Parts: sequence; C-alpha cells; structure tokens
Amino acid sequence: MTLRREEHTFIPESDLEGVSVDTLAVRAGQHRTAQLEHSDAIFPTSSFVYGSAAQAAARFGGDEPGNIYSRFTNPTVQAFEERIAAMEGGERAVATASGMAAILATCMSLLQSGDHVVCSRGVFGTTNVLFQKYLARFGVTTTFVSLTDMGQWQQAITADTRMLFIETPSNPLCEVADMEALAALARANDALFVVDNCFCTPVLQRPFEFGADIVIHSATKYLDGQGRCVGGVVVGSHSLMEEVYGFLRSGGPTMSPFNAWIFHKGLETLPIRMRAHCENALQLARWLEQQPAVEKVFYAGLKSHPQFSLASKQQSGFGGVLSFTVKGGQAEAWAFIDATRMISITANLGDVKTTVTHPATTTHGRLSPEDKALAGITDNLIRLSVGIESLEDLKNDIRRGLDALRS
Ligand SMILES: *Cc1c(COP(=O)(O)O)cnc(C)c1O
Repeated sequence: MTLRREEHTFIPESDLEGVSVDTLAVRAGQHRTAQLEHSDAIFPTSSFVYGSAAQAAARFGGDEPGNIYSRFTNPTVQAFEERIAAMEGGERAVATASGMAAILATCMSLLQSGDHVVCSRGVFGTTNVLFQKYLARFGVTTTFVSLTDMGQWQQAITADTRMLFIETPSNPLCEVADMEALAALARANDALFVVDNCFCTPVLQRPFEFGADIVIHSATKYLDGQGRCVGGVVVGSHSLMEEVYGFLRSGGPTMSPFNAWIFHKGLETLPIRMRAHCENALQLARWLEQQPAVEKVFYAGLKSHPQFSLASKQQSGFGGVLSFTVKGGQAEAWAFIDATRMISITANLGDVKTTVTHPATTTHGRLSPEDKALAGITDNLIRLSVGIESLEDLKNDIRRGLDALRS
C-alpha cells in the first residue's frame, strides 16, 4: 500500500486562511497518517523505499516528488517547516541542525567570494565569529555597524554588498533596528535583508511585514522553549529557499526528525509562552529600574528605552530577554549571579526557566576588548532570560543577588 500523506490531511491549507498566528501555531503543518493520530507522528527513518526500480529512478531524477533520504527531506521535519513558515508568513522554510547552521546555510547558498556583508555589531557572538573568521577565508568580507545608526549602514554599503544582516532586538542590550529603513536600503542596493528573529519569534514580530527577504531562527531558544534540543530554520521565498535547501542537501547540516518533532510540538504553546515571558520581563524591568544597586536596565518595553516607540510599532510584545548593569564591575556582577538560588546560571535563553548570564565572560567572551566596548558589553552587565515562573518568586531570587551587593 502506498501511503499518500496528502489524502489524510483533514485540515487543508485553505481552511487556515486568515487565521491568527495563535491558531497557525497549533494547526498549520498537520498531516495525519492512516492511523488518524491526533498528535503528530514522528518519522525516525534515514531513507524511504520505492514501489519499483522505475519509481526510484523517477524520484532521483526529480520527475516524481517524494522523499528519498532524510538529509534531503523527512515528513517530521517538513511538518515543522510548514508550521513555522505559516507563522512567519513566508513561502517556505528550511530546517537546519542548529541556529548557526541556519546562518551558515544562508550565507553559503546565497553569497560567493567577493561579496560583502553589512552586519549589525550586537549580533550573537558566534555569528560574529562565523563572519569574521570563517566566511572571510572564503572571500566574503563583513563590515560591522551600529544596529541603530542608519548613517553607518549607508556608509558601509559598497558595490559588492549583497547582504544586510541584523538581529532585532539585539542581544543582550535590546537595541531595536528600523526594519523598514534597512529593507529599503537593501532593496536600493540589490542586497538581501536577513533578520535573525530569534528573540521575538513570529508571535511578537514578523519581519516579512517590514520588508525582510529572509528570516532566521535558532529554534533552540523560544521555538522549543524548554531547552531540550538544538536546531534552526531559515524562512523566505520559494526561489531563495530552493538555494538554501540545495546547500543543505550537499552540505549536510539537516535537522533530525526527533528534534523536528519537539520543535513542532513546542510551537503549539509558543503564543501563550511568549505572552507569559513578556509579562514577567516587563514587570521585572520596571522593578529593577527602581533598585539602588542597579545602574541601568536595557529593555525595549521601558519608556526610558531610546527605541521604545519603534519597538512598539514593530513588535506586539517586548520579549523575555532583558539586561542590566549593577554598580561596580565584574566582581559585583559575579557576586549577584552567585547569590541567586533558583535562577539557572546558563548561557541558554528562551527557556521557560529563568536564566542568568554574564555576557562579557561567556556568550561574548570571544570578542576583542574593542569589539566588546563597541557592542556595549561591559563587565558589570548581566543578562536575564526571563522565564514563566511566578513574578514574586523571581523578584525574591533577584533580591538575594542585589542584597549580596549591599554587604
Ligand atoms: C543562540 C542563537 C543563535 C545560534 O543558534 P544555535 O541554535 O545555538 O546554533 C543565533 N542567533 C541568536 C540570536 C541566538 O540567540
């Protein structure tokens, strides 16, 4: 018996037209097998079989669509890809083994030697290393500029610029980029505008609505949301994603079906999780601003934030990540971290559990002192990825940290 998944799809795409992202999170990318399971099936298989030698030849020759090998396609991975593409409002998604693999696959498939990238300075530390150390070896050069200074972006553009790359809000300082302005600049210069949407997720921000060509995620963070596995995804037009898919097929950093299943299920609770993250983070940011041991709080939901109105326009919530400086230096920052007893000391973010990090010596530790200074990563800076525990319990734990600074 040949099982055609399409025949068992009870919710065709047309039934989901016009529904909200909350509904897409639960319903998009659902394909039932003949078992009529309610929760999604998982297909942990490396290869697929054919009805005949002729069918195998037709699949390999591209004359007949269908699965061949899980480095190329896998039904569980495709289900996750369909769901996240629908939520972002993109035509197609390509899932990858990690968030970094998503960025690598995008660059390897859409750039070539001699091309130039303009990238915002506050990007994830490893993204910085990927551009500066590895892509540079293959003749792709990168200029880093301030996320928020359009003059610097304009000045950095050369005749070879093929990509503008940003994260907004930035990690860990929550700076916000003007996506419409950057999209216009990219278009005028025949460059791709790529947005790493890891911090907001499609629940809070959909970069395609502001002119992005490609949206990237580290699925490891909020899409899973419970810190279980590592993965990534690239979303964009059919033609761009065909290139990214082509690199994956030949380069190999594909997502495993086990991880895809977890991400697919993780998306179902993403909207309610994001609202809980946002609510806790906003309350904590406001409260931290009033603590004597705290010097400054960085969170786009605060009226004191320089891009508060831009963030309000682009985002439907301000996210779960905030950072703040304590009075003092590294010793004080570490004393704060070590005095907390519930919050996890870990560099991961986007988890339902609140995590605390000292960026200068962990996530951003590989940056040169000059790059650290330019990115605003000071020794007294602490990042919180606010989880969904009770706000009072979080305040009590943070109070332990702050009390340690007084004594
Ligand atoms: C974590 C992260 C990445 C890298 O993702 P991995 O899944 O760890 O490879 C990329 N961008 C941002 C904004 C991240 O936070």
